[in-house]
Amino acid sequence: MNILLTGGAGYIGSHTAVVLSQAGHEVVLLDNFCNSSPSVLERLQKILGKALPCVEADVRNTDAVERVLREYKIDAVIHFAGLKAVGESVANPVLYYANNVQGSISLLQAMQKVGVKTLVFSSSATVYGEPQYLPYDEDHPTKPMNPYGQSKLQTEKILRDLAISDADWKITSLRYFNPVGAHESGLIGEDPNGIPNNLMPYIAKVASGELPHLNIFGDDYETRDGTGERDYIHVMDLAEGHEAAISYLENCCRGFEVINLGTGKSVSVLELISAYEEVIGCKIKKFITKKRPGDLPVYYAQANKAKKLLNWIAIRSVGDICETTQRFSAAKIIA
Ligand code: NAD
Ligand code: UDP
Repeated sequence: MNILLTGGAGYIGSHTAVVLSQAGHEVVLLDNFCNSSPSVLERLQKILGKALPCVEADVRNTDAVERVLREYKIDAVIHFAGLKAVGESVANPVLYYANNVQGSISLLQAMQKVGVKTLVFSSSATVYGEPQYLPYDEDHPTKPMNPYGQSKLQTEKILRDLAISDADWKITSLRYFNPVGAHESGLIGEDPNGIPNNLMPYIAKVASGELPHLNIFGDDYETRDGTGERDYIHVMDLAEGHEAAISYLENCCRGFEVINLGTGKSVSVLELISAYEEVIGCKIKKFITKKRPGDLPVYYAQANKAKKLLNWIAIRSVGDICETTQRFSAAKIIA
């Protein structure tokens, strides 16, 4: 298939580009590079042995998206393009609704004009909000706690309405849990600017000496060891989940479907740190500090629906996650 990845130069998009291209799909990237660098294209070329076409454009430019859909005879779109920092979304909600909701509407308008009606959407477990029970299954009530989560939920609502209005649409919204890790080559991975908000890139920066120590946000939660637990999913597992979603849409699905992509297991902050320490063979300097406001103690996915519908499960271990993260981090320092 000819598949357009909006936000394809970003963290999850670039790994998905590798998986789809290696599976024989023709992949086209569209990105405005607001949170990525064109240098990822060279690294993708190294991994794949060929260049992927990439169009620099904002997804809110409907005409530009329409041109790309026509020029490359696109059959399906995976919509990664979006802003994703929770704190920033609280500080600047309009930016988030404009980019994430308006961006999605613009993409849908272009797709409608051209008649491309197959879409995978990047959603998030954050749409669930405070857990009423765990693991979160796809029927868990949705109540996002911040504008970022709201922007994902609102987009899902638009997609559901669209699929009801026109039976030709095939749409899957994938609710990701905590994507981490890197491609085994160490050439692509997650590389946030400045001080990371998320645990995994923070650990990597402490391990590399870029940051002096890690702050553990609370150790008196009602969890296995008192620290927060999350469902960390290797980005290559996640990328393979997108390939599975594309096959599912191609072969059987009509309408709108929401599917969790997670491992179904939770890992605590201390467990993740100790897995990383095992990989690097030394201790990571860390202090217990106060809880981060708004943090949930624990959440993880019920992953059965993905297994049933997509024939997909996450296969990589926490050790694989730490090892590939470290390889990417070390390669970055050498480069
Ligand atoms: P990322 O920031 O690395 O990638 C997003 C890409 O989209 C970037 O390359 C950015 O430049 C591009 N982009 C943003 N707005 C754009 C616009 N208006 N037009 C064109 N390009 C634009 O983020 P990621 O981690 O790869 O996330 C991809 C998607 O998955 C996002 O929609 C995000 O909300 C969602 N998601 C991510 C996580 C996570 O923890 N990484 C979790 C759940 C959901
Ligand atoms: N965390 C931490 N120190 C950090 C960053 C995160 O202790 O510097 C904890 C956080 O409290 C949570 C877990 O690590 O329990 C995962 O946080 P992250 O921000 O990576 O994911 P999210 O909370 O958004 O699911």
